[in-house]
Formats: sequence, structure tokens, C-alpha cells
Amino acid sequence: MVQQSRRIGAFDVSILHDGVFEAPLDVLIHADGEVARNEAVARWGKPKVSIIVNCFALKGADAITLVDAGTGPSWGKAMGHAPAAMEAAGIAPEDVARVLITHLHGDHALGLFDGDKPFFPNAEIIVPEADFGFYGDEANRARTPEKKQGAFAIAATLKKHYAGRIRSVPAGEAQAGITLIPLPGHSFGHSGYLIEGDGESLLLWGDALHLSDLQASDPAVGFVYDFDAATAVASRRGILERAAHENWLVSGGHVEGFRRVVRKGAGYELQPA
Ligand SMILES: [Zn+2]
Repeated sequence: MVQQSRRIGAFDVSILHDGVFEAPLDVLIHADGEVARNEAVARWGKPKVSIIVNCFALKGADAITLVDAGTGPSWGKAMGHAPAAMEAAGIAPEDVARVLITHLHGDHALGLFDGDKPFFPNAEIIVPEADFGFYGDEANRARTPEKKQGAFAIAATLKKHYAGRIRSVPAGEAQAGITLIPLPGHSFGHSGYLIEGDGESLLLWGDALHLSDLQASDPAVGFVYDFDAATAVASRRGILERAAHENWLVSGGHVEGFRRVVRKGAGYELQPA
């Protein structure tokens, strides 16, 4: 199902819905500790965490670009629907010229793989240099808590299936009209991509936020999956403020639709755009 499309610069940007990921509340953490965490969760009032998962298709004049690739078939029936959403949008895997990856976590990168082959036979894969460098080097495994080591296997599989077709890019222009913005913390080199148009720009911020309402109102709420929670909080606060200041459209791996960031109280609110 394609939820929404917007014209931004040279691209028609469509949200490809991959599914919904559910988890118990104990995946939530808070930079100010347990009491602040419990207060934030109580204020929020939800019984569990339900995280929608998206990736994005950018149709340009002569090529299809994806931002992230969904979970693929490996996360169960509630997820892995991005390929059907792509098909509904008239995009075949062989049509995809490049995939920009925000970070090497399963819900963003496992959709690159189809068993032991690449799902996108013709695509170049663009990965943030910091993420690919870190998780592509087994020597860094010892620096990484065991629960957060999944990205090493993804980097290794990526190297195997897309050999010669991987471009790891630093901050700055990743391709014409698209700029990589580092947002470290959730993973070592987690990044967003800013698509710049004439009137309107759209930031696809990956996992800067997993829960739009809770983490916008209190950016100090994080996730046990964060590689470095304090750095993730700083990145989240910084990008929320920048997006509000620049009046960017935003969306992300776990944001419903296109939004705008508005300052509200001590935090922010993501308003439907
Ligand atoms: Zn994610």
C-alpha cells in the first residue's frame, strides 16, 4: 500500500509501508533515568510500543531511488510488505537504480536481500560511511554490546551480495539533490537524507524518532536498541530543532505520513503536513 506521495524537487516521493513492529514498554529508556522514564511512559498512556515501518521510493526523471528497503521476509507476517507496496507503485526490483540506506539495522536493510541473492539486481547501494566503516569492521564487535551486534552481519551480507556496487558516503551530497546528514547515536553512523526542492525540502530522518508523539514531546526518551543513547538524544534534539527552524517536511522509517516539526512546550510536535 502506498500511503502518500509528494513532489519534492526532481522526485515524486512515495511512502512504502512495510508493516508494524510491536514490543513491550520496557524497550523505552530515558536520558534522565528510571523515574523520568516511568513518568514519560505514564503520561503517554499506551500499553505497548507499536512502531510503523516505512521505506521510500523516489521517482526521478530517469531513475528510481529508494531510501531504505524494509525488513524483507525475515521479521514475520506483520512486516515485509514493502515489495508489495513497490509493485503497487509500478516499481519492479530491477527498475531500482540505487538504494540509500540510513543505517544498517534489519528493518531498514534486510529488504536488500532475497535469501542468498540481492533483491535489487541493478542497484547501487549508498550507505553512510560512518555506519558501513564501523559495522564493516569485525574489530569493532568487541566495542559493541551483544544485543546491538546485528548490524555486523548485515554489513557482511551487504558486502557479499552487492560487491562492487556499494558506495559509502560521508556527510554532504550523496547524489544530485540529496544530502546525507549524520544523526549518530541510534547506530554508530545513523544518518538522514535531505531532499531539496525549489519551494519545499523533505528530510527522511531514518530512526531519529521511533515514536513520533512520545519522542517529539520528550526527545530524551530513547530505545534499548540505541547504540549510544546519549548521542542519539543529542541528535534527536538537534534535528527536531533544525527541522522546525527550516520548516522542512519530515518523514522517516517510523513516522506516519509527511509531517512538519513545531515547537511545543519544552519539546516539539509533529503535525500532519
Ligand atoms: Zn528502524
